[in-house]
Amino acid sequence: MSRQVYINGRFVPQEEATVSVFDHGLLYGDGVFEGLRSYGGKVFRLEAHVRRLFESAEAISLEIPISQTEMGKAIDLSVSKNGIDDGYIRAVVTRGAGTLGLDPNRCSNPQIIIIADAIALYPQELYEQGLEIITSSVIRNHPAALSPRIKSLNYLNNILAKIEGLEAGCIEALMLNHKGEVAECTGDNLFLVRNGVLLTPPSEAGILEGITRDAVIELAREAGIEVQEIALSKQDVYEADECFLTGTAAEVIPVVKVDSCEIGTGKPGSVALDLKERFHRLTRA
Ligand code: PMP
Repeated sequence: MSRQVYINGRFVPQEEATVSVFDHGLLYGDGVFEGLRSYGGKVFRLEAHVRRLFESAEAISLEIPISQTEMGKAIDLSVSKNGIDDGYIRAVVTRGAGTLGLDPNRCSNPQIIIIADAIALYPQELYEQGLEIITSSVIRNHPAALSPRIKSLNYLNNILAKIEGLEAGCIEALMLNHKGEVAECTGDNLFLVRNGVLLTPPSEAGILEGITRDAVIELAREAGIEVQEIALSKQDVYEADECFLTGTAAEVIPVVKVDSCEIGTGKPGSVALDLKERFHRLTRA
């Protein structure tokens, strides 16, 4: 089905939504993006996503030529124009077309692109049986090199880890940071349950501060579950009672095996399943 794609203030059929081959988004991965979900035609935590997009842009000195309110409206409009109820939205801002040199000052016209489409979910049985993941040998970007807090168009760090995961038959892979601590997965944040307490790496571990992660922390606290943002080791993962991942596309998905080590009983844990259910209710409310 052909989508109406928003590009720089206009909606055009997807075949006509194009950018220049001189765009630094293409030439250098110089740009930022967001992935959002709509449920029943309403975008989940739209403001938080738009804020993070603008923060990512600011971190790379990219000035987005429209306001956050205008961006939010354009995202909403992309969903309604395409008649999407439950869908996935990709918002992208590139540096724009420049020369073949690196200099971002030679780029004019940042490109604002919004694509609203159907969502390709992980297979349902993975939510019921739980995922198997491996620890990748690719470490997460050093925060002083390219902060993982920036959702930039350069996802090679994560893609290399994803390739390693896929080669091992896993659709997700755990990434450690430069200190050997647990950071996150290639496109999802990680949580553990230990003695009834929910544990997740803090921002300083070098992670993208996920919007689903925030929502799950809030839901857990509402449910009376203690949550700690603390540094975690691979050993903590192996010895945890439960493990699960969170992300806009994945929502909440249990993990039952890491590096062929069974987590807890080897079945999705009760806290993970409860939070998955609570998140489902929150998004469909
Ligand atoms: N970490 C990384 C590296 C991501 O790309 C994402 C988004 N797919 C997440 C975590 C989860 O963030 P969110 O819940 O905001 O989608």
